[in-house]
Amino acid sequence: MDSLDARRRSENMRRIRSKNSKPEIFLRSLLHKAGYRFRLHRTDLPGKPDVVFPGRRKVIFVHGCFWHQHSGCREGRLPGTRPEYWVPKLQRNVARDLANSVSLEKLGWRMLIIWECEIESSPGLLSKVEDFLGR
Ligand SMILES: [Zn+2]
Repeated sequence: MDSLDARRRSENMRRIRSKNSKPEIFLRSLLHKAGYRFRLHRTDLPGKPDVVFPGRRKVIFVHGCFWHQHSGCREGRLPGTRPEYWVPKLQRNVARDLANSVSLEKLGWRMLIIWECEIESSPGLLSKVEDFLGR
């Protein structure tokens, strides 16, 4: 187990890197244009989901492929240098994501993960979101 302090540091770094990121802003504007109403960064929910649909009890996370280790994605590969630093750090992120998704599910929320790389090639994005949310 890492110390609370180290944990807090890595949380902060993650937040700085992920909150209001470009992909997230892109997704929000897409949702907005499609007429969905949502809230942002509800801090009372596990993992602080990026976009929250309280009425539907659904949340969307926008995950950076590297930080959240998108499997099978080029950007999700481990860096070649300093594995002793990166491997445990990234594994902790993945473990935390998993724990958050379990907690959300237990609370009755359904979640969708949108990966950064899916946003860059966006043709299927809206229909994916609509499938998840319903009209
Ligand atoms: Zn990816």
